[in-house]
Amino acid sequence: MVFQRIFRREQKRSPEEQEEQSRRIEDGVKRARSSFFGRLAVLFQRTQITEDLWDELEELLISADVGVDTTLAIMDRLRARYGRGEFRTAEDLSAGLQDELIGALSPAGEPRPLLDDGLTVLLIIGVNGVGKTTTIAKLGNYFRREGRQVLLAAGDTFRAAGSEQLEVWAERLGLPCVASQTGADPGSIVYDAIGAARARGADLVLVDTAGRLHTKTNLMEELRKIRRIVERHEAESRSLLVLDATTGQNAILQARAFAGAAGLDGIIVTKLDGTAKGGVVFSIIGELEAPILFVGTGEKVDDIGEFDPERFVGALFARETE
Ligand code: GDP
Repeated sequence: MVFQRIFRREQKRSPEEQEEQSRRIEDGVKRARSSFFGRLAVLFQRTQITEDLWDELEELLISADVGVDTTLAIMDRLRARYGRGEFRTAEDLSAGLQDELIGALSPAGEPRPLLDDGLTVLLIIGVNGVGKTTTIAKLGNYFRREGRQVLLAAGDTFRAAGSEQLEVWAERLGLPCVASQTGADPGSIVYDAIGAARARGADLVLVDTAGRLHTKTNLMEELRKIRRIVERHEAESRSLLVLDATTGQNAILQARAFAGAAGLDGIIVTKLDGTAKGGVVFSIIGELEAPILFVGTGEKVDDIGEFDPERFVGALFARETE
């Protein structure tokens, strides 16, 4: 269950809440479904599995941003299953494709839960413009609703506007926020934030971090330093990387650069509502071995959903009329 990837203890969800989560994901993938993935439905309207069908399927996955390596791996597995007689009709193949896509989204092994019961510091990392600040606001609101005592920390001291934007969100949501002047050491802000969290009884700190380009090695150094500071203060740290779905395979290049520096615990894919492709999510796990935990589906604070592979693939293949 997806919630166990986030919380150590089981969270109780009402059917209405689960329904709401599904609706968010479905809304988010509407554009992708009506273009690239919609073409899949047309492809599978044929009855026979022909060589043309295989070729078109491969081309379609690549053009939907699934990525060449991931597409070829999926195609190989499907062809092997076909060779074993598992698929007789195009409809069988469509069902097989859905299994393989769900498999591509499911990390091997059990990832450790994102949140411990004690104080956890979530470092939100990623390049500028991917939606980090907005995502922190969304997560702050989400985790507070789940009963956590949340504190925000403006660790992006490189961009003055970044800090201000976070403070505006904090005020709007009524969440405490620790900030400092531009140019301050982000490590010292995290240090202050941990102190403030302990003083207020907060158990979750969400830290906005600088998103200067990953070619600057000192950014990666800074991230490592922040993690060391958190660990020295007996709090758990986790790194969550924010990727923008509209940047397609570029997102993977960014992710590789950050993965080395921060040791990723999870991924958040934003702007899923803004892409007609959306296939990039399928290459993420193969590349990074970190689970996708949340997806952003709009600009408002509630536009975030927990990521569930089956629900996601189901929404991509759902018929428009349903
Ligand atoms: P940052 O530079 O990474 O902190 O990015 P921001 O949080 O400032 O977001 C950049 C832009 O992306 C803003 O206009 C946000 O409203 C927008 N944005 C963030 N997340 C989403 C999302 O899930 N969907 C859409 N459509 N826009 C988003």
